[in-house]
Order: sequence, then C-alpha cells, then structure tokens
Amino acid sequence: MTIGDELLLGFTVDTNAAHLARELAEIGVAIVRRSTVGDSASDIAKAVREALDRSDGVITTGGLGPTSDDMTKPSIAELFGREMVRDEAILQSLHERWARMRRKGPIPESNFAQAMIPEGAVIIPNGHGSAPGIWLEDERGRWVAMLPGVPREMRAMVSEQLIPRLSSRMSADGEQVAGNGPPPVIMSRTLRTTGIAESALADLLGDLGRSIDGMSPAFLPAVEGVDVRLTSRDLPKAEAIARLDRAFVKLREAIGRYVYAEGSTDLASVVLDLCRVAGIRIAVAESCTGGLLGARITAIPGSSDVFVGGVVAYDNSVKTEMLGVTRETLETSGAVSEPVAVAMARGVRARLSADVGISITGIAGPDGGTEEKPVGTVWIALDGKLSAVLGVRLFGDRSEIRARSAQAALDLLRRQLQSG
Ligand code: ATP
Ligand code: MG
Repeated sequence: MTIGDELLLGFTVDTNAAHLARELAEIGVAIVRRSTVGDSASDIAKAVREALDRSDGVITTGGLGPTSDDMTKPSIAELFGREMVRDEAILQSLHERWARMRRKGPIPESNFAQAMIPEGAVIIPNGHGSAPGIWLEDERGRWVAMLPGVPREMRAMVSEQLIPRLSSRMSADGEQVAGNGPPPVIMSRTLRTTGIAESALADLLGDLGRSIDGMSPAFLPAVEGVDVRLTSRDLPKAEAIARLDRAFVKLREAIGRYVYAEGSTDLASVVLDLCRVAGIRIAVAESCTGGLLGARITAIPGSSDVFVGGVVAYDNSVKTEMLGVTRETLETSGAVSEPVAVAMARGVRARLSADVGISITGIAGPDGGTEEKPVGTVWIALDGKLSAVLGVRLFGDRSEIRARSAQAALDLLRRQLQSG
C-alpha cells in the first residue's frame, strides 16, 4: 500500500509499488492487491484493515516522516490496539545523526515524532535517512511493514532489511511443511528488440508468441522498441533459471537480428561496446533530433573513448558551413533527403576526425510534412569505416519521432558493427 496525497493527485508517479512488486516476485512473494491512499489516518487504518483480511501481511510506503501529514504509524498502531511509545534507540540515533550532520542548535521538535513507535513494534533500521521503518505484528502472526516514502531510502531498506526478513520467515514456514523442497519463485527475464512492430514480432514468433515452455510471452511496446518478457511462476529458483535459459535460446533464434539486448540494457550501451571492440570512434550530425543521439550516447558512463562529439545542424546554414553540405544538394534534394544525410555524415566524420560519422535528418512534425515527405520521414546515414543509408517513415508525435530517430540511428550502427 502506498500512502500520500501526492500519489492520489498524480503529482508523484507511484514507483515504489512497482519496485516492491519486482523485488518481492524474486523471492516468490505474490502481491494479491495493490492500493494507494491519501494522508488521512482513517483512510490508512481502513485500507490496512481490509488488506489484512485477504493476505498474510501488508507493506506500506510513505507517511513516516516528521511532518504532520505523515500519520501512518499512529493510525496503524490504533488499528492494532497499541499505544504509541517513545523508543530510546531511535532517539539516540536521531541525536547521533544530528551531530554527524554538524547541525547547530537543538533537534527540531517535529523530529521527535520519529522516535514514537507502536508498542511492541520492531524497528527496521534506515541507513539512508532519518525515519526508521516499523514492523508490527499481531498475535495471529499478521504483520504490517511500514517503510518510508522516499524512493531511494525505501529501495535500500527493501534489499537490506525487508527481503532478508521475509526470506527467513518463508523458509521457516517451509520447514514446517516437511519434505517440500525449495519454494517456487516468480522470475522474469526480458529480451529487447527494436526496428520491428509488435504485430510483426508476434507474426515472426508464430506459436512461440503464445507459449514457450509453458510460459506466455508479454509484449511490451515502447518508443525504443518492443520488449518481450517471460515469467516463470511455479518453479524453484534453479529450475526457473534453467527453464528461462532454454526459452531464451528459442526466442533469440526466432527474433534474430531485431534483438539487441537483455534486461534493461540501453541500445547506446550495446553500440558503445561494439565500437570499443572494433576500435571505432564516432561523431554525430543531428538535425531533427537536436542532440538527442549525442545525449543517448553520453548518458552511458565511459562513452568518451568512443564518442568524439557532434554538431547540431538544425538550420541549413549550419549544414553548409559546419558540415560542408553544398547549397546545391540542399536545393535539389531538400534538407530531408538521402544525399543530405550522406553529406552530413561525411562532413562530421571529416571535421571531427572520427572513424564513423552518423547523421540524422528528418521531419518530426507536427508541421512541415508534404505529400512527398510526410511527417515522420527520416534519413539516417553512416560514413567512414562503416557506411550505410536508411530512409524510414516513423510514426508518433514529435517527441516520439525524435526518440525513434535516435534509436534507429543507433540500431543502424549496431547492425553494421555486428555484420562487419
Ligand atoms: P520523509 O522522512 O522524507 O518525510 P516519508 O515516509 O514521510 O519520508 P513521504 O513524505 O510520504 O515520505 O514522501 C517523501 C518523498 O517520496 C516525496 O517526494 C514523495 O513524492 C516521494 N514518494 C512517496 N511515495 C512514493 C511512491 N509510492 N512512489 C514514488 N515516490 C514516492
Ligand atoms: Mg507523505
């Protein structure tokens, strides 16, 4: 359960719930329902009471801080019929934290609220912030784990505290059910594809698109491409890994060159690795993407040994003066054309002394399209040690066309590097 008015109002996107779901799945904890409530003591208590009726335990995030809108602890304490009591250990660590941060003067009164916990609760230490988490359990073993809302703190506490606690609890439960072997886990793996639409991908996969070794693939389309995710739900960890390995061999074989990575790896990172192996340094010349391609590449740590630099050649005068595209080419073919893309790639490669120049010129819209060159028309070229030209019709709004253009340029480079 995630708590906070900002979540209900839509100002903050609930990333905590997604993170918890992914982490818990790995140890085989199934989430049966997810909910969000505002900063209201009665709403929190009501929602926790309902959640405990249908599950063994509830995890909450948010509302643990020292501000008056943070009322998770007292409302759940009341639900459990517990008094709020002062915890000397928390008080002590507040003082230590205050001293470490070299703050002057006394600790603000509001911070003392953090030292109040429900009677009988167990502290879940927070090594990354001031509000500790709370574990509260009733006589029947039903529990509520309260974690802070700040995503960075919450994540650290989940991996350092909550997961070990739940894992040992589950193995203790498992031992009671004798002869049961290791518990099943929920394990997902993702294959990343680009340059192929979801429907075409499904066609390519045929029967595999419906079921691979008893798992049905999920197709997850986004601007960068379509991710294909497989989830094993009913096997212990070692067997789940082996099953996913087998299935991924089949998936990769069927999808072939559209696959660029696994997991959450960015295409730019794949391209950088390939360039490094090939000893190739690259430069970019961008028109409609306005620096997006350079930004994608430089977002990857360590890109400096491959990426030389780039020119944002938006106006035609920059294409001629900085990249040496002739006025004649621009006039006869138009700025969005194969010859201009090729000349831009050649120009940036030569001027920045790179091994390969990559160019993008296109119409991102919403205006500027014509019958002959509609919005989404994009030309991409490589020049130098690798050379290729690609003309595509991309769809979407302005930001999607720009993002897809940068991705298509990276993918053209990837394919050339992998085929050469
Ligand atoms: P603090 O000790 O910082 O006060 P807290 O437990 O009171 O922690 P909140 O005040 O609820 O946490 O939220 C702190 C910050 O974390 C806010 O910026 C909020 O937008 C963000 N946050 C809270 N819940 C979530 C969530 N479910 N997903 C993403 N961000 C969240
Ligand atoms: Mg809050």
